Amino acid sequence: MLSAHALTRDFSERRAVDGVDLIVRPGRITGFVGANGAGKTTTMRMLMGVLGATSGEVHWQGRPATVEDRRSFGYMPEERGLYPRMTLVDQLAFFARLHGASARSARARALELLGFFDLGDRADDLLDSLSLGNQQRVQIAAALVHRPTALVLDEPFSGLDPHAVDAMLELLQREAGDVPVLFSSHQLDLVERICDDLVVLAGGRVVSAGTVDELRSQGAESYRVEVAG
Ligand code: ATP
Repeated sequence: MLSAHALTRDFSERRAVDGVDLIVRPGRITGFVGANGAGKTTTMRMLMGVLGATSGEVHWQGRPATVEDRRSFGYMPEERGLYPRMTLVDQLAFFARLHGASARSARARALELLGFFDLGDRADDLLDSLSLGNQQRVQIAAALVHRPTALVLDEPFSGLDPHAVDAMLELLQREAGDVPVLFSSHQLDLVERICDDLVVLAGGRVVSAGTVDELRSQGAESYRVEVAG
């Protein structure tokens, strides 16, 4: 279980994230929604430890998360971190190597994931020869390459058509079906369709949280307003 406790981040005078509590449970997909500037990316960066918190804590399995814990997470950052002039297989193998895989097993894992993502025949192509949708698939594959213990995905489905989203979900299910998954999105319809749980952020604070069904049954249509900004 991945959780945030009173997580807060100031930038100069401005409080971007203000006392956020959230829990991402294993085997459940948690949607993280909110208008532009609500603080989703800043929260996710703190969960991953790439940005320090002004105050508050991130816990993994009920204890403060260590650097090692976070290394085991899979992260898809807002600023995509792939190499346009590297082949797909080299790229994914490189990430696997960063996580300690041998050259041979890194390449095998890279090819396995490319196969899952229907990109096996593009393994030796350069990333920038792919469509944006396919580049996004490689980005998600990069987050999965080390068989992560948790997934933190910043707008992983933006720009994908519904069919591609479904295919991606199937892969997430297969590769990371039993780990906690948190993903941010502006697409509320999509989030309601695929998520178990929902956390709604507005102005750096959690304004609604619960299962999608709970929020719906509470008539929490107001969260739609928050997300729309
Ligand atoms: P979006 O959906 O547009 O990506 P978001 O919900 O992810 O938005 P954040 O990117 O976390 O929101 O931004 C929250 C607030 O913090 C914004 O007002 C943003 O301008 C501010 N902010 C984020 N990073 C920095 C930074 N490095 N320095 C100063 N302000 C920042």
